[in-house]
Amino acid sequence: MTTIAERLQSAYRQIAEECTKLGPSAANAQLIAVSKTKPVSDILSAYAAGQRHFGENYPQELAEKVQQLSQYTELCWHFIGPLQSNKTRLVAEAASWCHSLDRVKIAERLSAQRPTNMPALKVLLQVNISQESSKAGITPEAILPLAKTVDALPGLELKGLMTIPAPSAQQQVETAFASMQQLSKELQQHYPKATELSMGMSDDWQLALRYGATMIRLGTAIFGARNYERHE
Ligand SMILES: *Cc1c(COP(=O)(O)O)cnc(C)c1O
Repeated sequence: MTTIAERLQSAYRQIAEECTKLGPSAANAQLIAVSKTKPVSDILSAYAAGQRHFGENYPQELAEKVQQLSQYTELCWHFIGPLQSNKTRLVAEAASWCHSLDRVKIAERLSAQRPTNMPALKVLLQVNISQESSKAGITPEAILPLAKTVDALPGLELKGLMTIPAPSAQQQVETAFASMQQLSKELQQHYPKATELSMGMSDDWQLALRYGATMIRLGTAIFGARNYERHE
């Protein structure tokens, strides 16, 4: 059996190899270990192996884990799931990052609810790049208007873009990643500090890195298959 520590070391090694191939622009890609549905003991195994950035999808689960692990002050929590307005406070009070911002109303609530003794919540705008009707995220045309709103909110700091392409053939995923790289460059012309691009999961992170991903979100590759019972 492979342990979490072994899978992490192998992921670090593969990412480093990939980044070496791609050159210095890829050198700082950040691995976010997606721990949704996984117990705190798994997070601590990853922590012991050196991992500091963790991603969670459910506001309540995020809040509980942050509370239980509050003594580990180096942990950095990324909220990456769909966010309803009645759950914004949990995220505003617990996370360092929110990758899934896609509405003005949510932005305003997160900003208002961000505790004043915490640094601004770093946010990424989620783009529905495959234009799936069922998916969260904004259209490419909506990026600059939402960016403008976020930039004006004191509790938020605009950091970049995030996407989850539709599961499809490699060619279509590649087209989606290429579009995101272009959109990220356009955003940076207006907001030079919005340099982050969160894309790539266990099955497609190598491809995402090739198109400029600065954060890749790995769940299964680190923690193994998930059991969703808890959330059904
Ligand atoms: C679950 C999830 C991941 C991790 O997915 P894996 O395929 O297990 O790596 C990454 N990003 C988001 C937004 C997720 O919901």
